[in-house]
Parts: sequence; structure tokens; C-alpha cells
Amino acid sequence: MVTTHNLGFPRIGARRELKFGLESYWKGQSSIAELQQLGRTLRQQNWADQAALDLAPVGDFSFYDQVLDMSFTLGHLPERVRGFHGEALDNYFRVARGRSTPAAEAHAACCAGVAAGEMTKWFDTNYHYIVPEFTATTEFKLDASRLLEQLAEAQARGVKTKPVIVGPVTYLAIGKSKDGSNRLDLLPRLLPVYAQLLDTLAAQGVEWVQIDEPQLVTELDADWQHAFNTAYHLLKTCKVKLLLATYFGQLQENAYLAANLPVAGLHVDAINDREGVQPLINLLPAHKVLSLGVINGRNIWKTDLTATLDWLEPLAQQLGARLWIAPSCSLLHVPVDLASEQQLDAEIQSWLAFARQKLDELQVLAQALNHGRDAVRAALDANQAALKSRRASPRVNQPAVKLAVSKITRDLGRRESSYAQRAPKQAALLQLPPFPTTTIGSFPQTAEIRQARSDFKAGRLDASAYQAVMQAEIQRAVREQEALGLDVLVHGEAERNDMVEYFGEQLEGYAFSQFGWVQSYGSRCVKPPILFGDIRRPQPMTVAWTRFAQSLTSKPMKGMLTGPVTILNWSFVRDDQPRSESCLQLALAIRQEVLDLEQAGVRVIQIDEAALREGLPLRRTQWKTYLDWAVESFRVSANGVRDETQIHTHMCYSEFNDIMASIAEMDADVITIETSRSDMELLDAFDDFSYPNEIGPGVYDIHSPNLPSEQHMVALMKKAAERVPAERLWVNPDCGLKTRQWPEVIPALKHMVAAAKTLRAEL
Ligand code: GLN
Ligand code: ZN
Repeated sequence: MVTTHNLGFPRIGARRELKFGLESYWKGQSSIAELQQLGRTLRQQNWADQAALDLAPVGDFSFYDQVLDMSFTLGHLPERVRGFHGEALDNYFRVARGRSTPAAEAHAACCAGVAAGEMTKWFDTNYHYIVPEFTATTEFKLDASRLLEQLAEAQARGVKTKPVIVGPVTYLAIGKSKDGSNRLDLLPRLLPVYAQLLDTLAAQGVEWVQIDEPQLVTELDADWQHAFNTAYHLLKTCKVKLLLATYFGQLQENAYLAANLPVAGLHVDAINDREGVQPLINLLPAHKVLSLGVINGRNIWKTDLTATLDWLEPLAQQLGARLWIAPSCSLLHVPVDLASEQQLDAEIQSWLAFARQKLDELQVLAQALNHGRDAVRAALDANQAALKSRRASPRVNQPAVKLAVSKITRDLGRRESSYAQRAPKQAALLQLPPFPTTTIGSFPQTAEIRQARSDFKAGRLDASAYQAVMQAEIQRAVREQEALGLDVLVHGEAERNDMVEYFGEQLEGYAFSQFGWVQSYGSRCVKPPILFGDIRRPQPMTVAWTRFAQSLTSKPMKGMLTGPVTILNWSFVRDDQPRSESCLQLALAIRQEVLDLEQAGVRVIQIDEAALREGLPLRRTQWKTYLDWAVESFRVSANGVRDETQIHTHMCYSEFNDIMASIAEMDADVITIETSRSDMELLDAFDDFSYPNEIGPGVYDIHSPNLPSEQHMVALMKKAAERVPAERLWVNPDCGLKTRQWPEVIPALKHMVAAAKTLRAEL
């Protein structure tokens, strides 16, 4: 008999109940008791949803972040939050958010506000965790209270549970050393606390513990490999059985290590690494459980159950009761319930599965393995019918689009001339001063803008009234920019809800859910659009707004687009063709838009690639393949223009060292990046690799409400000029201004324009 289990369930709730509960508590509008009650309710609901499983996870529920939970379980709190006198949960939120709740305000004198923990992306997902902070003197001390409380709840309910924890090696690997000390030196101090935790769980009657070590799908040097051996040899005397869980990729050269660690079972991602499974079985000691992640925990498509069974049945024969099946990773990364959707196109909806539906699929697979396919014939037939309709749908397959992609040549992504030849032509046309000033695209999304958009979507405002409101906002943005004396203007993106959704809504091949929310961090969720079919742009998407904005000024107005790689990386994408194929389709659609903008007289076009870096694979050996098609996609979208048309791109991060060659290959005339907080140090990358074109290193940290001074910005630009020739520098903020207020933006930009004038005077 095959065993079914799950690695984790979304905790945000089908209607984002946790988000609203947290935000109300943080605002002081509800009590801690109410929040705790909400947590219990959500956990009960999640266990009810997972009732059919042989083993359901416990400890996967979190009020903010599972990694921060682990830090608290290990008694590993940043120094600055120790000795807090209030509620433990308030202290937890202090680490998460850098702020306490009104309820904790009573402690303002003794335990005032603290800096929030740094956040970073959890492997290659869009989920952000709070980074554990280590120093040479870090100590650990077990606090199993949270886990034990949730375990008792599950046991009281009669759930067969499997506690879930982050493994010790991954925990060290994803943290940061604050003092340059080696994190691995902490392992001997960390392991006894893990051992104590496991024995504590055993004492509560726990048989299996899932210990997550996704670090095993990354490249490990000898020290980290050794750490795995040390850790699991020490933990093997504990009285629970360990299911070592790996996911998000392939074990590859770590397969031998993973197979031979002294644990009772191993979970692997059979979606990303089906080919690795049989070789792994050959390596696996005969007493070990092998859990196969056969349902994709990272996307929203129905599984091909018949094809999965074709593959699984022989393995089930081979492994017998040693075979477990599960989703590939925690379902944290998919929305909760497809049944909530009321407005999705019925046909598209029939192709999808969210968390609850994915567990149903798992059940069908288990039934078929345990009792034969006939036991679930109706479910298998329905599944086949849905997949067939998807495969055959003319909305998925547009032969003309596929043909166009197949005809892409390298020349399509090449400018007519080199940057050196284009630059003087652009300079002659644009007539910009040295150190030209610009902004990244968006201006404040005011309450009126949002109100107008929701009225428009709800049918309370007609199209022409909505257009009038947006045009008035564009007028305001242009007037303000002219008054400020900026050189290259933007229209302000008033009409855009979101830089990906805005384009997705206008492209064929995209669908949008109502409740398809996925946790990004804390109470924040994103609702990625669903890229389901071949991409076609039925009509121009931005030309009318840009043309209107240009009509209001004689200064150059930047056309503003989101690039193909970013659109792809922030969507749920197809599983029936490579990502690269979808990306090139997007590239062709954006290319048409670029050419239409140029045709409409737009002289400067910015194509944002905010998410290019995010798409990097976990393993460095796979970076080149990704970067090649990502850069090619950008080039196809951007480089069809005449020499005179200036192409900008924007990336809102500051790590370029390791991808500089690819960034340069994109061949944008100007790249604007985030630098203000890194003190221009990152420009070293541009220097070393001599980035050949123009650069706008952000001088105004738009994430902070603080007003940057003119002197500060001048100083930053002077540092930049030490690395990049002054004639190739632009002056601009780090990113778009949509989250700021006009009264913050105006004085900051005034200082920025003044800084540029000072720099020019000193040339
Ligand atoms: N043009 C976008 C804006 O200004 C860019 C946003 C981003 O890089 N994330 O808002
Ligand atoms: Zn940005």
C-alpha cells in the first residue's frame, strides 16, 4: 500500500483570512486572542482539507514565516529583540516587521521599536523568508512551545500528523553571518537543540518528522556536504523517523549523499527530476522509504494522472510499501481552492488545480495504485477529458504564433548599428544635457486613481469617464515634471494596476483568477496571472496613453513597457512547453508594441526587466541556458527599432557582478538600476566589465519615506563617475514612485534635479 502525505498547506486561507486578521491585529483593531483563534480555525480547516491523507503536516502553519518560526523554536532571536516584556507573539512580529503592535506599545520605553529582519527569496520561489542572523557567539535554546501546541491540536482532532521543520544544514545555509564568521562553525551548537526537539516530539507520540533540506538541490562544496553527514549522523539516535525532504530541483551529484544519510526516508521532487528517480532508487538502502513528489506544487495545472500512473505503477511494484507519494513541495506556493473561482472561463477552469484539487489528485493516484485504476475510472476519465480539451484548444494553440517564434533569427534581436554609432544619433535627436534626469515610470497611485479603477471595473464608471480621470492624472504628472525641470518625462502609469497584470489583461493567452492568491511574505500576497495559451497582441496596449502624454510636452516622453522575462517570471506559466518558448512569444508581442510606439513618434522606450535576475536557476551550471534565452527574448522585444530610438531598461536590484556579461548583451542604450542604498559599490561590476552603454544608478531610495538631500545625491553621483565616464551617466531614482505620496515625491525630485545641475556646473 502506498502512503500519501503532504509537505505543507497554504496558511493564508481561501479568502486570505489570515492576511485580514493579521492586518487588523497590527492596527490594534482586534485582540491577540482573536488572532490566536483565527490561527486555530485556519489550522482546523487545513486539516479538514487534508483528512484523506495518511500523514498531514503540522507546524506548517505560521503567523508570518516558517523560517522565522524555526528561529524562535531554536531560541535564536536577534540580540536586539531579547528581553522583550510583552507577548511572545508581539516580539515575533517585531522581528518580522520592525514594529510592535499597539498592544505592545506599553513597552515602548523598555523595548522600543527594532530594525526588521532582512527578507530574501526562499530558493527560486516568490516567497520571502526572514533571514536568520548569525555571529560567532550565536547560541541556541529549544522552545518547542509553538510546535507542541499545534501538535496537540492535531492530535486532539485525531489527525495522523507529521511535524515539519527546516533542517539544520538548510537553516544555516539560508542565514547570514553578521560578523564574517563561518556559519558552519555553529553546527555543533545547533545539533543538540535539534536532537532535543526531535526527542521532545517523540515523547508526544510522533513517529515521523519531515525535515526540510532543499539545500540538497543546490551545488554543495565539500564543507557543506560534510555538514550534512555530521548533522544526520548525530540526529540518527533520535527516537523519531526522519523524512528528509528535498524539493525545487534535482539532486544530481548530491544523490549519493542524500540517499545514504542515516534517515528513515527521503522525499524528492519527481516533477523537476523524474529522470533522477530510478538512479536514486538504485542508490537507496533497501530499508528506506522513498517519497515521490508527483503533483506539481509550483503551478496550477491539472496533473496528467494517467501518464503519472504509467510511470508510477512499475515503481510501486518495485518499492511496495516503501513508496510514498506527495506533491513535489509545500503547497504554500499555489492558491487554496479553485472552487472559489466564479468568473474564470469554464473551459480554462477545467484545466486547473489549486491546493485542494491537488490533494484530490493525489488521492486518485493512491487509490489507483492501491486498488487498481478501475477503482477510480471515472476520475481518471474526467482528468483525461480535461487534458484533452486543453491540448486541443484553439485558444491554447495558435499556429501563427508558433510559426512566428520558429522564424526568429539572431538578427531579429540585433540593432542596426553598435551603441557607439547609435549614441550620437540619439544625442542629436534628443538634445539632452549632461547628467540627464528622468524617473523610472510610475508616479503616486493616489486614492482617486484606485477608486476610479475599481469603479470602472465594477461598471460604476464608463470607459470615457475612466479615461478622463486617467488623462487628468497624466496631465498632472506631466505638469509636475515640467515644473521640476526633468529632462526625459514619463506619463506616470496611472492606468496600470500592476506592471504585469496590465499587459496580461490585454494579451490573448492570459487568464486571471479572482482568489488565486499566493503568500509572498507575511500578510502580503500576489495573484499571478495565468499564462495558458500562445500569446498574441490583438491591438496596441500603451500607444494611446503615451501619445496623449507626449502631446502635452515638447520634452521626450518615455514609452513604458514591461519586458517579456519579467512578465513570464511573475506569471503562472504553461507546463506544456518550455519557459523559453513562452518567453519568446511574449517577446514578439512586446516587440510589436515597441514598433508601434516608435511609429507613433515616441523617441525613448523603456522596457522594464525587474524580474530578470529572479529567474536564475538554483544551480549555477544552469544559469547560462536561462540567461541565453532571457537575453535573447529581451533583444527580440527591444532591438527592432531605428538607431535614433533610445531603448532603456530598468532592473530594481543591485547585484550584477555575476550576470554582467548577459546584461551588457541586452544592448539597451540606457540601464537604470537600484544603487542608492549600496553606496554605488555595485557599480564596481559595471566598471570591471566595462558596461559599454549608459547607466542611471538610482540616487533616491524610493523605499524610504526619508527626503534625500541634494548633497547626498551629488556625492553618490560623484562616486558613480569614478567608475563610469560622466558622459554615460543618468540621474534618476532607484525605482518607480507609485507607492509614495506626491508631497514626498516633489521635494525629493527637486533635490535630484538640483543635484544634476550642480554636477553639470562642475563638469
Ligand atoms: N516602470 C515601473 C514603475 O516605475 C517599474 C517598476 C519596477 O521596476 N518594479 O513602477
Ligand atoms: Zn524597479
